[in-house]
Amino acid sequence: RPRVLSGIQPTSGSFHIGNYLGAVRQWVALQETHDAFYMVVDLHALTLPQDPKELQENTRLAAAQLLATGLDPDRCTLFVQSHVPEHTQLSWLMECLTGFGEASRMTQFKDKSARQGADRTSVGLFTYPILQVADILIYQANQVPVGEDQRQHIELTRNLAERFNGRYGKIFTVPEAYILRETAKIFDLQDPTVKMSKSASSPKGIIDLLDDPKASAKKIKSAVTDTGTEIRFDPENKPGISNLLTIHATLTDSTIAEVEQKYSGKGYGALKTDLAEIVSDWAAPFRARTREYLDDPETLDSLLAKGAEKARAVAAETLAQAYDKVGLLPGK
Ligand code: ATP
Ligand code: MG
Repeated sequence: RPRVLSGIQPTSGSFHIGNYLGAVRQWVALQETHDAFYMVVDLHALTLPQDPKELQENTRLAAAQLLATGLDPDRCTLFVQSHVPEHTQLSWLMECLTGFGEASRMTQFKDKSARQGADRTSVGLFTYPILQVADILIYQANQVPVGEDQRQHIELTRNLAERFNGRYGKIFTVPEAYILRETAKIFDLQDPTVKMSKSASSPKGIIDLLDDPKASAKKIKSAVTDTGTEIRFDPENKPGISNLLTIHATLTDSTIAEVEQKYSGKGYGALKTDLAEIVSDWAAPFRARTREYLDDPETLDSLLAKGAEKARAVAAETLAQAYDKVGLLPGK
């Protein structure tokens, strides 16, 4: 079975609809056909300031949400990034292979650091794509199911895998991004030209899956659209409506054309009202299942511990090979 690896940050309590449609939905499907490794990337979350108690709660909450979407610990390896220390160890080797200029070209760093201001930007935010490289390479992943915003980081991963293999001998699988065109980028409801984001979207711009349905309905109904009336998929001229059509089509397993057809001659209000209901119908059982997992933290923690054990077996083997290749003296 080909292997997949991906992760999600515990940067806020709830996943948003972009996380689900862009990434986690594919994770659920891929556990049937692939040897799947999924993790809550708590170390990545530390690249922006986090309250310690909240980080711990959000890490459990993220794991609970992953289980609630349908990840099954018997069919995939589900764990917390910091439980597998080999990631940060391999990351150092990768940092030493990365050019400063190369790392400086990462657009997500530019965006996030611009929002933070230079004084408040950590070195961790700068090097985090390299830790992500290690996350992926340490499992010899063939594919990495993510949203479009991660494409550049996967490209960096490929470059570093090839560089390491060329310099020291081939030990790393060169992975590919697995990005579904339709849902690669779900946009902010208030600014449909930028991606919906846990840490950057305003509360009104983001559909949080754990939100109360009334709150989500209100946000969807006040989503920014154009001044026209026609419901048509046209991301260039109608980014707001196109975003709503994408969410509608994916959640109802329809094509965009079918949804366009359904609303031909109807107004934006009808589309928004229906979408609010579709989201609410999807989210209600998701919320209930998340709560069930959270209500039993002991089971949750032991399940994550088992996941980490499985992950470490693979990670330790890759790390040992990499240490050997670069010429680190084996310790006793
Ligand atoms: P942050 O703003 O803290 O970076 P995020 O919303 O980008 O949070 P992540 O935890 O960084 O969420 O990403 C988890 C997964 O969700 C990644 O695979 C990412 O590509 C995907 N993703 C995030 N936002 C979107 C979006 N708007 N559309 C599609 N996929 C997305
Ligand atoms: Mg992100």
